[in-house]
Amino acid sequence: MGESSNRRIRPTRRDLVSAVVLGAVVAPLTYAGSVRQKQEGEVPLVHSEDLGLELVGWSRTMPPTPSFPARIDRYAAYDGGTRCATTAKPGVVDVKNLILRTYGDRPWSIGHPCTGGVSEHAEGRALDVAFNAYSRSSRKAANDFFWWLLRPDSHGNRHAMARRLGIMYAIWNRKIWRAYRPDEGWLPYSGTPNPHTNHFHLSFSWAGALRRTTWWTLR
Ligand SMILES: [Zn+2]
Repeated sequence: MGESSNRRIRPTRRDLVSAVVLGAVVAPLTYAGSVRQKQEGEVPLVHSEDLGLELVGWSRTMPPTPSFPARIDRYAAYDGGTRCATTAKPGVVDVKNLILRTYGDRPWSIGHPCTGGVSEHAEGRALDVAFNAYSRSSRKAANDFFWWLLRPDSHGNRHAMARRLGIMYAIWNRKIWRAYRPDEGWLPYSGTPNPHTNHFHLSFSWAGALRRTTWWTLR
């Protein structure tokens, strides 16, 4: 199955983001296969990036992470989708594969049809992955991913993996984190009718979507 030919598991339903931020459009999830591969980490909860997320215990399941030099990307600026180019972009596909390898096979979606409005999904540079906020284990898995994404690296770079991957904003379990306002941390998100309790959403900068950030260029 091609990366751009998502199989829909529910009818398309567009949910406008109604938080205090610029609008984004989310849509349903699709299935894809993968191999389970976990990397356990024993790491303390000592930094502010944890704020707003429920973190259980000390054991984190994190994606395999290359070691990087100190040089790191600027935070992604807000650059909302305006065009129709639904083919899944390679950086987004890489991150989808990384998440499924780490946390197990599950529904996901990248490119969505352009009918009904534009969004990063319509440009193939947004990713939805199914996690259930009402399941303790699924919620922990998603929280572990965001802990990995936003923790400082060994050089002291804040939100290191989010910057290296070119994450523009993330929405999960009634909260939103925005790379273009990083000091605000996770803020309440009241997306109606979808508060992202059955999946999380990642929007990518064009640089990240096209593998031009340091996750790809410095490894
Ligand atoms: Zn989405």
